[in-house]
Amino acid sequence: MSLSAVPPAHDPAAIAAGAAWSPESWRGKTALQMPTYPDPVALDAALHELKRLPPLVTSWEILALKQQLADAQEGKRFLLQGGDCAENFSDCESGTISNRLKVLLQMSLVLVHGLRQPVIRVGRFAGQYAKPRSADTETRDGVTLPSYRGDVINAPGFTEAARLPDPKRMLQAHAHSAMTMNFVRALIDGGFADLHHPEYWNLEWVSHSPLAAEYQKMVASIGDAVHFMETLAGARVHNLNRIDFYTSHEALLLPYEQALTRQVPRQQGWLNLSTHYPWIGMRTAALDGAHVEYLRGVRNPIAIKVGPSVTPDQLLRLIDVLNPDDEPGRLSFIHRMGAAQIAQKLPPLLDAVKRDGRRVLWVCDAMHGNTESTANGFKTRRFDNVRGEVEMSFDLHAAAGTRLGGVHLELTGEDVTECTGGARELTERDLERAYRSTVDPRLNYEQSLEIAMAIVRKQEQ
Ligand code: PEP
Ligand code: MN
Repeated sequence: MSLSAVPPAHDPAAIAAGAAWSPESWRGKTALQMPTYPDPVALDAALHELKRLPPLVTSWEILALKQQLADAQEGKRFLLQGGDCAENFSDCESGTISNRLKVLLQMSLVLVHGLRQPVIRVGRFAGQYAKPRSADTETRDGVTLPSYRGDVINAPGFTEAARLPDPKRMLQAHAHSAMTMNFVRALIDGGFADLHHPEYWNLEWVSHSPLAAEYQKMVASIGDAVHFMETLAGARVHNLNRIDFYTSHEALLLPYEQALTRQVPRQQGWLNLSTHYPWIGMRTAALDGAHVEYLRGVRNPIAIKVGPSVTPDQLLRLIDVLNPDDEPGRLSFIHRMGAAQIAQKLPPLLDAVKRDGRRVLWVCDAMHGNTESTANGFKTRRFDNVRGEVEMSFDLHAAAGTRLGGVHLELTGEDVTECTGGARELTERDLERAYRSTVDPRLNYEQSLEIAMAIVRKQEQ
């Protein structure tokens, strides 16, 4: 997309002269990756219904997260953001949700223990139902149909009916997000995340994991620390049994996001109340596009994916538009360069933002630059590349005098075989055994824990 019509970077007058924002001002811009709904009347009816349904998160949770992200920018917290590439409505069941929560809790335990810092836990769930696609259509055996764009839009089956965008799916997405949130909130309120009981998070299938011993040692040492603190305090330390958990998803399907963008009593401005921390993906992050226009006006903390084709100047212009007042906690950049390109592509971006004194939270997505296809037709990622990109990120930030404040990962608590490598040395042949993702390959439980351990080791160096 052309950037030529955009004002020069750092021209506050030109930016202030920009058109007024409203929850629907994005409609005046080019909106990429949007489905074409065949029936405008049905679309209006679904959006009308969605607008009157209750929101999924609250303003005070959103603003609390923004403050925590501001702390992470200052080096006082570390962000762990993870979950499926795409949730499916059929994954909205107790085992899948609690297993995903367990992995994230275990990873955060490893990080808290190793980094000696509070960890901000953000799930890629309770709304991660829309997917950008590299092609609008898919052809199989001479038949061409619209691409699958996520359960909020259409269904993955390769039939005309399945692939037809259906606006009622937005209502189903809202309901499935609410059910997921409800279960996660209930588990956490009920003590599932209690540091006194990390054994609640053990996943059956890993009792023989090559990583089990190292993890159990860590749990024992945390147990000792909790006991020690409680002995000193002479009482049970209550804030160890409650933690914060936040949600995020790609703000891709703008009519859905708009319908959940609300004003609330005693708060200025507009908030996206479908999630705490929306991000926009690499394919829709153009400065003059509809997605940037939408996100510029909501008060949530927001994130932008930054790929290898982004220039330093584009990045500075994005900051001008998305965080003109340099508000703490407001803007995160999630870089996703790939292990092969990060050493070359990341440093100029870090230097430009630092030179300009801009406040952002840098996060590493070590998944999306490392996707490849195998000879037997699987989309996969090599564990060594994922771990390598995280490790290189730490080094490149250290060299630039910036801070890597978090990681963004695609993972699941299920025993899948979608990424190769890791402690169990999964091979391409193993992918045939338990490949379940309808879109991108995810780290399984063990591979996820191994990344958390690698982060800690890197910080200890
Ligand atoms: C994703 O996060 O699933 C995704 C599509 O990422 P990106 O926009 O960085 O390619
Ligand atoms: Mn993905």
